[in-house]
Amino acid sequence: MNQAVLILIKPDGLKKSLTGNILTRLSETKLEIVAAKMARVSRELAEEHYKYLRDKPFFEELIKYLRGELHDRKKAMALIYWGKEAIKKCRELAGATNPEEAEPTSIRGAYGRILTSGLYENVIHVSSNEEEAAREIKLWFNPDEIIVDLYPTKENVIKDFKKKVWA
Ligand code: UDP
Ligand code: MG
Repeated sequence: MNQAVLILIKPDGLKKSLTGNILTRLSETKLEIVAAKMARVSRELAEEHYKYLRDKPFFEELIKYLRGELHDRKKAMALIYWGKEAIKKCRELAGATNPEEAEPTSIRGAYGRILTSGLYENVIHVSSNEEEAAREIKLWFNPDEIIVDLYPTKENVIKDFKKKVWA
């Protein structure tokens, strides 16, 4: 069964110019990329993404981290990888949440660090299971930004909808 997984290259990965290296490592999975974009991370998006960590003492700093406030980079790169056992394959390559505990050859082991505050600056996010992947993908992407049909959609007719187009 094919699975979809949300990958985020977090602002530290972007600031350290690691995008190419990370995508090269992820290509080892032989999974298909079915969506990719740079995204501005609003406070609402960041808080919704990490809502299950709301009660943690590091939550506020984590939101700042994902929003790019710690790295002067107000953006993250969001991708969807798709294929057999996509979640397991990507999480293995990413390594453990704590970069000091992650395999040295994993992405987080190679490029992550722990801030003096204790926050894990670990370069990428990878969805942890299918349910979380669906929740996160729907949060970060609209259906028409994904080149396969992952989840059920509906059609909305929006009257007087304003949209920016090329001048
Ligand atoms: N995090 C942290 N300290 C912790 C746990 C988590 O700084 O003790 C941060 C870290 O950046 C991590 C994110 O919060 O990637 C989300 O945590 P989660 O438990 O979902 O780990 P992940 O799924 O990213 O491995
Ligand atoms: Mg997680």
